[in-house]
Amino acid sequence: MEVVKTKIVDIKTGIIKASLKKPFITALRRAIEVEDVIVKIITDEGLEGFGEAAPTPAITGETHGSIIEAIEKFIKPAIIGMNIEDFEEIIKKINNSILHNTSAKAACDIALYDILSKYYEVPLYQFLGGAKKSISTDITISLNDIEKMVLDSIEAVNQGFNTLKIKVGGDYKKDIQRVKAIREAVGEKINLRVDANQGWKTKEAIFAANEIAKYNIELLEQPVKAYDLEGLKEVTKNSPIPVMADESIFSPYDAVKIISMKAADIINIKLMKCGGIYNALKINSLAESAGIECMVGSMMECKVSVTAAAHLAAAKSNITRCDLDAPFLLNNDPVIGGIFYNGSDITFSEGFGLGIEKIELKNEIFGE
Ligand code: MG
Repeated sequence: MEVVKTKIVDIKTGIIKASLKKPFITALRRAIEVEDVIVKIITDEGLEGFGEAAPTPAITGETHGSIIEAIEKFIKPAIIGMNIEDFEEIIKKINNSILHNTSAKAACDIALYDILSKYYEVPLYQFLGGAKKSISTDITISLNDIEKMVLDSIEAVNQGFNTLKIKVGGDYKKDIQRVKAIREAVGEKINLRVDANQGWKTKEAIFAANEIAKYNIELLEQPVKAYDLEGLKEVTKNSPIPVMADESIFSPYDAVKIISMKAADIINIKLMKCGGIYNALKINSLAESAGIECMVGSMMECKVSVTAAAHLAAAKSNITRCDLDAPFLLNNDPVIGGIFYNGSDITFSEGFGLGIEKIELKNEIFGE
């Protein structure tokens, strides 16, 4: 049998921009717009794959400049001319081309999975396993005064969301009041998740977890500092609510550590933290083998990388929760195709790969 090789011939980058309907506020940062790096990888047979990197200096340490430089100067020379069929080798080259820079790596990894599933002529979620045809997401309630958070929560419920992710991590005593007020405002039927974004100290977190447990909370996310795995373990041991690790876990190696320490009950996988779908699959497999469920979340991102995350979530039965509301929070959508929102439900376009047709960038259009 003659083997046809499909070669990577070019990698282009551009900038995508969208404004937020309202400011996105967590214990770590405040954002009013999203400006991400878009990657287009092209093969000699004319296949195009799209990817996206979100600069989050407060979380991954990356900026627009660092992402573009990592791609142009390190990743691109490492994989240009390689055959898409040698997928493992390409991913290894990307991961070894430069240390960290996980969002830059994720953008390239996503574009390669887009190409690979287009090559096999299936939607990406089917290529990855195909467990579910649709998924549903929670919606984030930004960290604000209690009154504002209550109003935002009611608005979200009226928009059709039945799971809210409440951002806390300010003063822990006031945070308990925030959760109480939201529970009283939305009633018992709405599912509540709480994310402290590292804002509490270990003892504060244990106290708060026991207090907010009175308001029927599904999970408590990243209560303490990312590097404080001992603290995270202590909270997990003493919290009546399942504890989820987010900023504490970037790589599959972090997953091994957290799982073996029993430092968390659930893991939040984000493509921007782990470097893409390849490593996300590893983390999910490690977690599943240890009896730990995963959530798939995102940074404030546009629809290219969130579509990739949604396909990943749909493909794997151990990914039981999604926090993929970012594109829903945008005023304008510069991406044609990919995922569709209907309230909290996310469905997929019929197309192969990510199903993305066109991306309107700041100065040009990808996909025409
Ligand atoms: Mg989080």
